[in-house]
Amino acid sequence: MAFTDLLEGNARYSAGFTEKGVPGRAARGVAVVTCMDSRLDPLAMLDLKVGDAKVLRTAGGRVTPDVLTALVVGVHLLGVTRIMVIAHTRCAMASGDDTQIAGAIEAADGTNVHGMRIGATTDQLTALHFDVDQLRSNPLISAETAGFMYDVDTGAITQVN
Ligand SMILES: [Zn+2]
Repeated sequence: MAFTDLLEGNARYSAGFTEKGVPGRAARGVAVVTCMDSRLDPLAMLDLKVGDAKVLRTAGGRVTPDVLTALVVGVHLLGVTRIMVIAHTRCAMASGDDTQIAGAIEAADGTNVHGMRIGATTDQLTALHFDVDQLRSNPLISAETAGFMYDVDTGAITQVN
């Protein structure tokens, strides 16, 4: 069974569950957009707890149309007043452009995803600036927004714009 260990893990989690009654609004007013990288623990790295933040994760932490939709809902319905877009060092999505990532996927297992919009770029900081500017200039996003870089080797976060 592919999920047995995970359901066993959930049984242990549920047995010690203490978060009953936590509201669905972001208690600390923050939405975090970041990468799906398994080295990132968004709540822990900001010393947040369950209920504090909306966390939106994509490959590379890019602000995709679905992320934008979620942020609009977060800002207007779920208590989000500030948005952190957090890129990170040694990100796989910064190791090449979409063509190169598609090439790596094809080399890995033969799957052809050439033409799929991945959002990869070696110019990670420019992409981060673009995504932050896109949010700042969006009339539907009335939240303080900034871009940050997380260092996977130190755990430190630096504001970059
Ligand atoms: Zn990443």
